[in-house]
Amino acid sequence: MKGLMNAAPVHEGRGEESGNVISTVLGKCRRCFTCVRACPAKAIRFEQGQARVVEERCIACGNCVVVCAQHAKEYRSGLEKTLELLGGEQPVAALVAPSFPAEFFELDAQRLVGALRKLGFAYVVEVAHGADLVSAAYQRQMPHRKGPCIASACPAVNEYIRKYAPHLVEKLIPVVSPMIATARAVHAVYGEHVRCVFMGPCVAKKREAWDPQVAGEVDEVLTFREVRSLFERQGIVLDQQQDSDFDPPRAGLGRLYPLVGGLLKAMGHERNLLQPEAIVISGHQETLEVLGKLSGDESFASLIEPLMCRGCYSGPGMSPGRQRFERKQAVVAYVREQMKRGSEQDLAPSGDESISLSRVFVPDERRLAEPPEAELRRILAQTNKFSPSDELNCGACGYATCREKAVAVYHGLAEDAMCLPFMLEAAERVCEELKLPWLELREVQSHLVNSEKLVSLGQMAAGIAHELNNPLGTILLYAGILRKKLGNREDLRHDLDLLSDESQRCKRIIGSLLDFARQNRVKLESEKVARLFRDAVETSLANRDPNLQVRVEVSDDLQVEVDRDQLRQVLDNLCKNAAEAMEGRQGHIVLRGRDGPREGTVILSVSDQGCGMSKEAQDMIFQPFFTTKRIGKGTGLGLPIAYGIIKMHHGRIWVESEIGVGTTVFIELPRHRAQVARSVIE
Ligand code: ADP
Ligand code: MG
Repeated sequence: MKGLMNAAPVHEGRGEESGNVISTVLGKCRRCFTCVRACPAKAIRFEQGQARVVEERCIACGNCVVVCAQHAKEYRSGLEKTLELLGGEQPVAALVAPSFPAEFFELDAQRLVGALRKLGFAYVVEVAHGADLVSAAYQRQMPHRKGPCIASACPAVNEYIRKYAPHLVEKLIPVVSPMIATARAVHAVYGEHVRCVFMGPCVAKKREAWDPQVAGEVDEVLTFREVRSLFERQGIVLDQQQDSDFDPPRAGLGRLYPLVGGLLKAMGHERNLLQPEAIVISGHQETLEVLGKLSGDESFASLIEPLMCRGCYSGPGMSPGRQRFERKQAVVAYVREQMKRGSEQDLAPSGDESISLSRVFVPDERRLAEPPEAELRRILAQTNKFSPSDELNCGACGYATCREKAVAVYHGLAEDAMCLPFMLEAAERVCEELKLPWLELREVQSHLVNSEKLVSLGQMAAGIAHELNNPLGTILLYAGILRKKLGNREDLRHDLDLLSDESQRCKRIIGSLLDFARQNRVKLESEKVARLFRDAVETSLANRDPNLQVRVEVSDDLQVEVDRDQLRQVLDNLCKNAAEAMEGRQGHIVLRGRDGPREGTVILSVSDQGCGMSKEAQDMIFQPFFTTKRIGKGTGLGLPIAYGIIKMHHGRIWVESEIGVGTTVFIELPRHRAQVARSVIE
């Protein structure tokens, strides 16, 4: 479990944004604008080069904490307060969110309950009970409401609606969340003096607990990552604790809440695709899209269940490192097990009807007003955008369009300098004026353009991979079930094995796509270039056309510090491209390695006498999906991936080519990691 034990990204109330649920660790922000891109509320303000969180605009969804590679965003820590409560006079109840099986994979529920008791919690209660109460309250409320009702279990969605779609506030079902419902039930059963600490996958709950409409019920909110930190801090070894059961009140189908559509299932709604009276939306993009279009008078749905995360088990307070599918399975497995154990009455929405579950949602308008058109034009002109054709809408600043960004500039949220094309042009002009060699700058620009592309490729790859993982998981699951049912039908068993093997292969491919998307770290080791070349030739040119001669020119003692597997991938791609360019021709492919002209660098190259490339093609080859090969043969990913890997090695890759003569791809790499800092290649 060690891998999951990294400390939670929490702050103890330091810095200027100490009252915020989420704040910036000043000095760490490197202005990549990724948080702006990921922020559904556009609640980031740039000040002195640092992306700060604007508390009034923030919906505390926690996306920025997850996406910031510099760990420059943190959420408020609940550890100190929890320890204080545990050390106090009053008994403290742990309210455990129903997604806990997706976090504590290594434990069964009883061991987790035992460990929480060891921490000092007097009661340990499933928040799924509160979810059951909420389901019943929804059922009572819905018949009396007009138009679509919006489920109000996701606090980030509720905040979003209050601030950015206030016309929908009256559609929110005025019922508290499962967290508050559970706290009320705990107080009803064990007494008002009991203090409550909620623990779950959600950062937005930290905000909800202070909401004046429901404040005073929950004393502190911890994310599951914080709960792990707490165990670690108190020296509690999880698998050495005594088993114990959750305390009443008991939970039923509310345990399904963390699943996408789980709320509806818990309410007994079957999703009928042809008559979608109940609609489930999940993930911030889909949620924003749907909420942005709803007028509130729609007749197509009686209930809409929006979740800002893709299932609560994907929340920002979960430890990283597990796939969505695995998490979902863990929750499902727990519910199944409880259903097997429990009685019928466990599954019916239950609970004390005297507990008040109503609450009020108050609009909190934060939409940015459009400035007068003349003002907008003036702001756009500041970054050389004089007509619509100058508005590139490249998204590099984090805003979808130049106009959207101009509105943010008007309101003091964004700065002119966030416009990448404008800044590059400005830098070019400065170089020209100072007579600096701006050709080098052009090179920098083309690198930047390529890295932008890589970022979007990475995001897309991650998106596709996540989407594919779920159906693949289902295929594997059913293949397993079928295999069990088959008995001794050997003829079909083979087909099923093939189905499983191929699905596993897809999962591995997806895994490597995700690795690429995450731009995995390089593991540098000293390698002989001769050996790298030899291996590449053996794997990628073994079945070549006999007309092709291969020559390796490198001294046996030339060494370079690289990630062996990654560099092999680069060389394989280059050798394959060379062989493909020489199809139907005769000639040589030559792999060369030598010391580079810059101190401490080596140059590797792969040359062919193939078809060569036009100048236009040469400008495109590092762009993802650029290929001149037929469908099924080319993916257009070989060179972009090579580019990404070489960049991660602080190296350079470029090409010289002439149509009909041949192509050489060059790679320059720092020989040792110590050289990286001095290298001017970056
Ligand atoms: P793919 O090989 O799948 O097409 P790559 O990213 O490896 O994708 O290459 C992109 C394109 O660059 C190729 O389709 C081809 O047009 C061009 N290319 C790459 N290497 C060579 C080469 N050695 N000679 C000629 N063209 C090449
Ligand atoms: Mg290729």
